[in-house]
Amino acid sequence: MDGRTARLVRQRAAGSCEYCRLHEDQEPFFPFHIEHIFARQHGGGDDISNLALSCHHDNLHKGTNLTGIDPRSRKLTRLFHPRRQRWSRHFLWAGPIIVGRTAVGRTTVAVLALNAPDRAALREALIEAGEFPPSD
Ligand SMILES: [Zn+2]
Repeated sequence: MDGRTARLVRQRAAGSCEYCRLHEDQEPFFPFHIEHIFARQHGGGDDISNLALSCHHDNLHKGTNLTGIDPRSRKLTRLFHPRRQRWSRHFLWAGPIIVGRTAVGRTTVAVLALNAPDRAALREALIEAGEFPPSD
């Protein structure tokens, strides 16, 4: 992937993780990743329609996964697709906690460990500082 594509992805996301909404400036020691929504292993390419900006934490947990098990229905469910789906349709905030509103949302919260204690604590501190969550 070339530098221009990476810049476009970053700009399109306005510097925020497209899964947990954290801004890169809020986590300066862990550079965000240009993430392949469909991993190369599954035929996903470097086209901008297959790329998303992701924080280090979420990208490591997502890995090459495309699906997971919805914790409510126990059914195999696709992960959130930042290019094809709207964040606010699938997730909402409960303080520092990201709540899945749909099967896709719940599954993504589980697989990406979006509410891991360190992540929730970071968001809590940002909320107290008046810097989170982002307005949509
Ligand atoms: Zn994230």
